Amino acid sequence: MKIRKGDTVQMASGKDRGKRGSVLEARPGERRVIVENLNIVKDHRRPRPMKNPSRMGQAQVQPGGIFDLAAAVPVSNVMLVCPVCQRATRVGYSVRETKEGATTKVRICKRADCGEVVDR
Ligand SMILES: [Zn+2]
Repeated sequence: MKIRKGDTVQMASGKDRGKRGSVLEARPGERRVIVENLNIVKDHRRPRPMKNPSRMGQAQVQPGGIFDLAAAVPVSNVMLVCPVCQRATRVGYSVRETKEGATTKVRICKRADCGEVVDR
């Protein structure tokens, strides 16, 4: 996947289109990402007794109610925000040589007038 944990991304579709957030979790298996404060869903929970293996005191209860939860979005619905030019961009790859002479793939900004390396 071209998007990784810690990236800043911009939503390209849905009700949060145009908004930006940082990637909390990348799930390459599902091709989805969880983005901070974006694609919020309401989670309705029942109060339920908490399992408390230590100390048999009074029964503790996990409160019920409605919670805001960031739901996973398909990677195809987000675009990477380039840390150099701060614009939403497509991602390209480039091969760079390390100090030891080995080659590594780095991600680059595909904006024609930027083209900077996105990683590190
Ligand atoms: Zn850029």
